[in-house]
Amino acid sequence: MRSRPPILLAATFAAAILAGCASLPAGAPATADVVIAATTDVHGRLRAWDYYANAADPARGLTRAATIVDSLRTAHPGQVVLVDAGDLLQGNPMTYVAARLAADQPHPVAAAMNVMRYDAAAVGNHEFNYGLPLLEKAIGEANFPFLAANAYRVDGTRAYRAWHIVERQGARVAIVGATNPGSMIWDRDNLSGRLVIRDIVPEVRTAVAEARAAGADVVVTVLHSGLDSPSSYDTVTTGLPSENVSARVAREIPGIDVLVVGHSHQEVADTTINGVLVIQPKNWATSVSVAHLALVRSGGRWHVSAKRAGLVQAHGHAEHQGVVAATAAMHDRTVAYVTAPIGTTAMQWRSDSARLIDTPIVDFTLEVMRRAANAELASTAAFSTDASFGPGPITVAQVAALYPYENTLRAIRITGRQLRDYLEFSSRYYRQTPDGRPDPDPGVPGYNFDIVAGVEYAYDLSKPAGQRLTHLTRNGRPVADGETFTFALNNYRQTGGGGYAMLSGAPVVYESTDGIREMLIEEVRNRGTLRPEMYFVRNWGIVGVGGVSSKPWPAATPLPPAPAVPVVKDPAPAQRITARTLRIISTNDFHGALEPIPDLRGYLRGGAAAVAGVIDEARRACVPPACQSLLLDGGDMFTGTPISNFAHGRPVVDVYNTLDYAAAALGNHEFDWGQDTLRARMRQARHAFLGANVRYEDGTDVPWIRNDT
Ligand SMILES: [Zn+2]
Ligand SMILES: [Zn+2]
Repeated sequence: MRSRPPILLAATFAAAILAGCASLPAGAPATADVVIAATTDVHGRLRAWDYYANAADPARGLTRAATIVDSLRTAHPGQVVLVDAGDLLQGNPMTYVAARLAADQPHPVAAAMNVMRYDAAAVGNHEFNYGLPLLEKAIGEANFPFLAANAYRVDGTRAYRAWHIVERQGARVAIVGATNPGSMIWDRDNLSGRLVIRDIVPEVRTAVAEARAAGADVVVTVLHSGLDSPSSYDTVTTGLPSENVSARVAREIPGIDVLVVGHSHQEVADTTINGVLVIQPKNWATSVSVAHLALVRSGGRWHVSAKRAGLVQAHGHAEHQGVVAATAAMHDRTVAYVTAPIGTTAMQWRSDSARLIDTPIVDFTLEVMRRAANAELASTAAFSTDASFGPGPITVAQVAALYPYENTLRAIRITGRQLRDYLEFSSRYYRQTPDGRPDPDPGVPGYNFDIVAGVEYAYDLSKPAGQRLTHLTRNGRPVADGETFTFALNNYRQTGGGGYAMLSGAPVVYESTDGIREMLIEEVRNRGTLRPEMYFVRNWGIVGVGGVSSKPWPAATPLPPAPAVPVVKDPAPAQRITARTLRIISTNDFHGALEPIPDLRGYLRGGAAAVAGVIDEARRACVPPACQSLLLDGGDMFTGTPISNFAHGRPVVDVYNTLDYAAAALGNHEFDWGQDTLRARMRQARHAFLGANVRYEDGTDVPWIRNDT
């Protein structure tokens, strides 16, 4: 979007001239521009610093986002509205130190956002992780409201503000926020008896109507809810409303101009659903979404006449010195906290194979949990495949990389049957392969592949999930369905996170409010020197990996350490499909628009030359061989303008040939001039016209219309 400001500067200039025009009341221009800048899921990335690596982070940080916002304000004075869609107060060591070790100091998130002059933020689910008092403290310190139209106190009143109106160039812009109902299970301990989070859709509908009734000309919603992916919890057994409903809000609620999506940690540059401009900046202040709204005034009210949006990447932007200063004390304290050695080890403990073979570093987590809860079994996921200890000093940063979440410890009593179902469910992380070779399913996050200590088991991945356990024994004895065990796990899993439905109803026999990560840090501190044999028992495996066979293990005594297996890097889900990128570039409903057409404001938009420029840009950004692009069209190419209609679409096909389209769907208007003309255009075109569902009346396929190419 940085290449476009001249248009908007011109608009401001035009507005200024109109403001002085005698035919309009003084100070009442007929047009205005509003710029919405948005961040989301910042998760404590206030500084361009990776506390786990103890190194500068060139790609992200609210300090870099602040520089982007500053330059927007310089280019568009008095027009910028700055919002965030939630998940601010938790996520890295700085937010931990701010919440747990320095809660008497001003919260650095509020301090940084005050310097940036945010107008409003949605309440994210992670805002509840350190309890409601910490959130109240941040709200009290912030110079802007935290919004959640769907969060209610038990007495039925709203717990936070639902909407907030700001004025820009005389236009009233309402910001409406909502938080995620999933917190009712994820943070049940912090919320139950205090807050009820209701379904986003009806609550936002009401709040938008309220804001409109209060005089809002423009409505921007900030939703801590993904676009439309399935809920991570079972909505049937929990009775909770859906987790990711932003697309539904856009489709079903009238009166929204811009929708900022949060929570799902995706990035959406600019898409339109039911006329609503939908944007999502990347988490961790990696990018800033910028939406430009052109307003016109008629009938005494402002209306949005045009809107578009783009992303500005934080990478390459300098850190904003005002935000650096506002967070300096907490940054220094955090660096000191994470870099202080808390213990030492002579070995290297690695997690890069932790989802393939049993490893000491995961057993370290499991044993600390099992002993603390005094349970027979324990489970955890290998949350990271990048964590490691030693050889040498162990720091808080290294433990935090191994255990990045704010989970607390629980223990439940489960039956042998539940344990079997649990392990089978966990194994869905791997796809079924003919030879049983481990192949992670990109749809199942690594943090949902749980590993269990206290029983011996192995998976045969040539079998479908549900039939994979080759055996399940405890101390070498088969586990019976009716037996029961105490089972240590984290609160996220115990309350239904990850869809492990077989655990629901299992009685809780141990419960602590202490963080598991803090228990691990304490363990290192108390032991001083860590040796693998303090924790490591080789008790699970995948058949065919590291010498594991399908025969039951003679496991009453600890097995010897695993033989060396080649390290199979298990990359993060987002990077797992690394082979190649296919970029689909598509157009549709061109309708003969060879020349630009003036919009409501009189600016020329579109046209073949402009579209060709955008296609070119999209192709240039996709560099072979890593990225291949494919240009497609969704149909209705020809009819609509005199220049195209006069020549029955011939010049449109010339343009499409020049742009080198791969294929186009047959639009309904392709038949406007009869079959003969269409066949002539098809002969002229170098690309295929596709219509798999086109049939003669007797049902036979039309031979000259291809189904595919
Ligand atoms: Zn988040
Ligand atoms: Zn979230």
